[in-house]
Amino acid sequence: MMNPNALQLANKGIPILMYHGFCDQKSFSGIENYHGKHLYVEKFEEQIRYLKQHYKIITLARLLDHYRNATALPVNSVLLTIDDGYASNFHLAFPILKKYQAPASIFITTDFVEKRNFLWVDRLEYALNRTQRTNVQLTVTGKEWTYDLSSPSLKKAADRGIKRELKRLASSLRDPIIDRIEESLEAKIIHDHPVPAMYEPLTPEQIKIMVDSNLVSVGSHTTSHVIMSVCSPEEMRDELVRSKHAIEQMSQRPCNIFSYPNGEAGDFNRQSRDILREIGFKCALTTVVGVNPWNQDSYELKRLNIHNDGDLTGFVRTLSSFARFLRKLKYENIRRNQSR
Ligand SMILES: [Zn+2]
Repeated sequence: MMNPNALQLANKGIPILMYHGFCDQKSFSGIENYHGKHLYVEKFEEQIRYLKQHYKIITLARLLDHYRNATALPVNSVLLTIDDGYASNFHLAFPILKKYQAPASIFITTDFVEKRNFLWVDRLEYALNRTQRTNVQLTVTGKEWTYDLSSPSLKKAADRGIKRELKRLASSLRDPIIDRIEESLEAKIIHDHPVPAMYEPLTPEQIKIMVDSNLVSVGSHTTSHVIMSVCSPEEMRDELVRSKHAIEQMSQRPCNIFSYPNGEAGDFNRQSRDILREIGFKCALTTVVGVNPWNQDSYELKRLNIHNDGDLTGFVRTLSSFARFLRKLKYENIRRNQSR
């Protein structure tokens, strides 16, 4: 394996790893977790053990201090972040964070935690997975689609297709569509007792326990997991103020870190940054792939997504893939200039 010190110099930046949920099952009988959003807990432990041996896991507060005051960081620094607010963060990841004394930041969608409003992507996945129906109709802004559900691979294709159509809709438009899909498929997450562990949100008590360990800092991931750039300024403010307040109530600490739902380029803009700053957030994490150089804008921090596919070698490759990407880009530029 490549020496991580050499690797970080090649990368010229700090990697921030992005996790979501965790699971204690290696495989599933249906389509649940086919996209690898929930990491098998033994893989997580293997990764943290590797990072403890080869890297220095630092807090987000320390990285922000580095950006603000040019304080020194260990050469092989890395950060852990976990989005959404799944209960598995507490049940499966937190024991490992404690065992290895590894700090992490968790970004919470507060309606998910406070109201048990299940994430729409999970409601969709659950309904498609459990249904006996062989197709589903979808109507979005007057356009109609029919998806075939007669095999697991067609269900996965439907899941991807429907997500693509609904992703950028305001939740007021999207939620009734999800209600209708659940009805027509006769499968609704809330009717299942108990709810599959993977889809469960954290509780405020679990959040408080993690924060009190001083290993976990908690940030906002909006109130309803809405994409910032589809919101009006008033909606942005409301999403941010309400989630900040809810987290401060739960954790009894100031909440000033944020991660963008979806978080790709185009999901955030100048306006969302101005409002974040105005409300008192000190940084924002995106899902734009990359590492963070010394002059990185702290409202557009890049991350490396860690999913359930592959093994430790794949994980090490993800940490080094950005270096390879840069080399490829440089090579292609040279070729382009030569052929001109
Ligand atoms: Zn999210």
